Amino acid sequence: MITGIKGMNDILPAEIEAWHFIEACVREVFHPFGFKEIRVPVVEKTELFCRSIGEDTDIVEKEMYTFADKSGNSLTLRPEGTASVMRSHIEHKLHILNPVDRLYYVGPMFRYERPQKGRYRQFHQIGAEIIGEPSPLADVQLLNMLWRFFARIGINDAVLQINSLGCPGCRPRYRQALVDFIAERLDRLCGDCRRRYQHNPLRVLDCKVEQCRDAVQAAPSVLDFLCPDCGTHFNTVRRLLSNLAIPFEVNNRMVRGLDYYCRTTFEMIASRLGAQNAVAAGGRYDGLIESLGGPTLPGIGFAIGMERLTLMMDTTRIPASRPLLFLAALGEKAVEKAFLLLADFQKQGIGAEMDFSGKSLKSQLRRADKLQTPLVLILGEDELAANQIQVRDMETATQEKVGLESLRTFLASRWPHHFPQA
Ligand code: ATP
Ligand code: MG
Repeated sequence: MITGIKGMNDILPAEIEAWHFIEACVREVFHPFGFKEIRVPVVEKTELFCRSIGEDTDIVEKEMYTFADKSGNSLTLRPEGTASVMRSHIEHKLHILNPVDRLYYVGPMFRYERPQKGRYRQFHQIGAEIIGEPSPLADVQLLNMLWRFFARIGINDAVLQINSLGCPGCRPRYRQALVDFIAERLDRLCGDCRRRYQHNPLRVLDCKVEQCRDAVQAAPSVLDFLCPDCGTHFNTVRRLLSNLAIPFEVNNRMVRGLDYYCRTTFEMIASRLGAQNAVAAGGRYDGLIESLGGPTLPGIGFAIGMERLTLMMDTTRIPASRPLLFLAALGEKAVEKAFLLLADFQKQGIGAEMDFSGKSLKSQLRRADKLQTPLVLILGEDELAANQIQVRDMETATQEKVGLESLRTFLASRWPHHFPQA
């Protein structure tokens, strides 16, 4: 038996309704905010991710699926979506058409991580980006859309945490203060942190190792180092979130695991998910597009983990789709006649199934029961000869003989919400 790859899941038909529901909610919530979908390839040149995500991040250091293609080019399965969207935006000069662009994507991402609940090697993200808008109103609009999306999905126990990472103007001062602080506690840090802290001290705050977390508990707060512009930006974000009645917490330890963030960063935290508690995350990345060779355009975005969403959702609220009708036919002629009826219902968009192999009525009814079809149409030799059909209501277990000619009218009068008048 050939099995799937560890950490890469099949989404089986029994689970698909939740995914369809999420995808429908994405469109329903995002479109009124002016967002358009973009679809980019799942493979890019490796260099794109090294340059955008940052060389000394967990993702680039150890999580990327990188390989050489047959011509020897180094390619990588995308570990996240923003880099690809920016690459596409620059390549197609989308800013000329829309100086402020609102884009979203939905699709698989790949990271070589240790698989566990809520953490996989192929997982899916819903992402959104606002490109070209420096105003803090863009930050708030994006957070509002994220908040609305969670409300629409029916998740209301996730907590929004926000922080500001400052800008290239004020962050160096904070960085230095952090380096000084960490230098005195080096012996308590993990190997990764000891190696990285000099060139990327913020990464230490993001480390998941317990002893590192403890060691930096009293670290200086980035918020005390913001320049006036960054301070005003962050205050506006907080004020407008409150005006929109969106609850949030300020977490001055949140730095996010990617290099390109500046100013506003945020996460949606769900305590219900245990260790894998972030269900969505994002922030502002004003220098990213320029650093990738594009125009000087600011940006801000988020990514939501879809698997973690499904773990949090109350999936019992999503109605399972089931066929409305089961056609049970007995005898060769009846089977062929029923097959025509079946095709006719399907043509009208009415979910209908039948068994082609001519099993006993009992076994066909058992199958209908399993499918939970509310109605069964029974066509035996006798019914066929009389040009009639039995209509069985599975809920009440009652049965009625109806002329084949008037079947459609009968169904429409009895169950008008299932069968619109033909
Ligand atoms: P974590 O801290 O859990 O590793 P992250 O900071 O690496 O998350 P991002 O790169 O910001 O995550 O991705 C945004 C969201 O994508 C996360 O909040 C999470 O819901 C989801 N996600 C990230 N990595 C995985 C994974 N390996 N499996 C499933 N979902 C993931
Ligand atoms: Mg991670």
